Amino acid sequence: MALIVEKYGGTSVGSIERIMAVADRVMETFNAGNQVIVVLSAMAGETDRLISLAREVSPNPDPREMDVLISTGEQVSIALLSITLQSRGYLAKSFTGSQVSVHTDSVHNKARIEKIDTQNIQQALDKGQIVVVAGFQGKDNEGDITTLGRGGSDTSAVALAAAMKADECRIYTDVDGVYTADPRIVPDARRMACISYEEMLEMASLGSKVLQIRSVEFANKYKVPLRVLSSFNPGDGTLIIDEDEEMEQA
Ligand code: ADP
Ligand code: ASP
Ligand code: MG
Repeated sequence: MALIVEKYGGTSVGSIERIMAVADRVMETFNAGNQVIVVLSAMAGETDRLISLAREVSPNPDPREMDVLISTGEQVSIALLSITLQSRGYLAKSFTGSQVSVHTDSVHNKARIEKIDTQNIQQALDKGQIVVVAGFQGKDNEGDITTLGRGGSDTSAVALAAAMKADECRIYTDVDGVYTADPRIVPDARRMACISYEEMLEMASLGSKVLQIRSVEFANKYKVPLRVLSSFNPGDGTLIIDEDEEMEQA
């Protein structure tokens, strides 16, 4: 039995129809005999909407309160997916960042993960439950809610995969893999079947936002095999692994 972490980004959970499609995919992974931890982003546009609400009341909102506000988007998606899975007869349980718990430093809006307790989610997995975790959020030593910076659900997923020693971390998004350049800007960009952590880090540092750079740093540090694929038509996507293994694959 393998342990798979599946992360779905904003577009992939952008409507009720899409959340139902995510449920189908998660059920497929679970029915294949795997344990599954799902990490979700907020529904597309929700984090931006929350930020603009705060800007309407203050030009310069307090970062702590911003984290209380912008972490709510993910809480909506984890509840909706868990309810969907339960309505299909599956055992599912949602966890916020504090409930896991994901411990971070206190740098509000750009916190770094320091430690993840695995006990609560391990217990749920042992009971045969599908675990659904809110990405992008954690808590600091004071118990205050923190967030990990825009795109931070990628980092939540990879850090959880590392902490749980998962067999693979799948990042489901709205493109079918990592391309030589942003396919929305460069139409003849090519999808790469396999690249190394180092190459992916370089792309992320040059501004490619397909993965948050910290997630790639985590994957490299803990050697988490990462796969980027489309939640609409998955295919093989792009596998991101160690340089040596990448040479072998080539
Ligand atoms: P999600 O909401 O799933 O986290 P993001 O919008 O954060 O998705 O990241 C996916 C987007 O990254 C794609 O829609 C694509 O436009 C962009 N992107 C930028 N550079 C690349 C690249 N080299 N390969 C693939 N996608 C890229
Ligand atoms: N919802 C957060 C954002 O929009 C985190 C994420 O999607 O990864 O940045
Ligand atoms: Mg993203």
